Amino acid sequence: VYEVYGEQLFSDGELQGTIFVHRDHTRNYELDKMKSDLVSTVSHELRTPLSSILGFAELMLMKELKPEKQRKYIETIHKEGNRLTHLINDFLDLQRMESGKESYEKERVDAAEIIMNVVHTMEPGQPNHSFIIEDKLQSGKIFADEDKLVQVMTNLISNAVKFSPNGGNITISMQNSQDNVMVSVTDQGLGIPEKELPKLFSKFHRVEGEKRQKIRGTGLGLAVCKKILEDHNGRIMVTSEEGKGSTFTFYLPALDGEELLQYTQSDST
Ligand code: ADP
Repeated sequence: VYEVYGEQLFSDGELQGTIFVHRDHTRNYELDKMKSDLVSTVSHELRTPLSSILGFAELMLMKELKPEKQRKYIETIHKEGNRLTHLINDFLDLQRMESGKESYEKERVDAAEIIMNVVHTMEPGQPNHSFIIEDKLQSGKIFADEDKLVQVMTNLISNAVKFSPNGGNITISMQNSQDNVMVSVTDQGLGIPEKELPKLFSKFHRVEGEKRQKIRGTGLGLAVCKKILEDHNGRIMVTSEEGKGSTFTFYLPALDGEELLQYTQSDST
């Protein structure tokens, strides 16, 4: 978004030249867009759980309830409270990472082991989806903050589950090359329209659409994944076909003994 205007310069009534001023408003425009996305996320994602928390709490205050009903309401309050915490944590996490205040605790870890653990933790909670681990994941050593890698995997798998409301397979694969460890998560869900792909990793960006209206989220998960991976010298990409499914793939630098030494030294300075 540009603004250009020209100003003619005169000296003793004679035209000396014209100055053109170019103003780049792209950043302002992006900031405005981010603010309005933030406002709509906050108004929807904070208000919805808050109103059910307040609503159920009021009901419990007003009436004598049977213990089963009471328990059901408390469960809802608890669930919605968790959702709020999750949203606020994601937001603060990202804020901290972007301001460079995040301190990563990187060490030599095996990506395959971490990924298997995440899959095994999440799988039992998803009865409508089949988890497929392609081949046996080969061990792949990387220099990473384990908790953060768990966060990336958890986000990608929960998106795969969330955005395939009819169930299906969720396939996890990992390939090692000399330079990289490549991990991908594929689902057979809604897929993503091509025009949305470039914006997908931006903060608060959510794809609109009838089938997605009921699927809750903040539009922060992928932005968090991207930032974590970049802070590990890695990257993330997506391929998708609407109605067929999506594949999110990330790469992290593979580690051999010598590299490990370099990383450790440069990280401690
Ligand atoms: P959230 O899931 O909280 O909305 P994300 O940043 O994780 O936020 O994802 C941003 C958007 O990208 C989602 O709203 C969704 O529309 C789209 N998306 C992410 N993962 C998938 C997926 N596996 N299949 C289809 N759409 C996806």
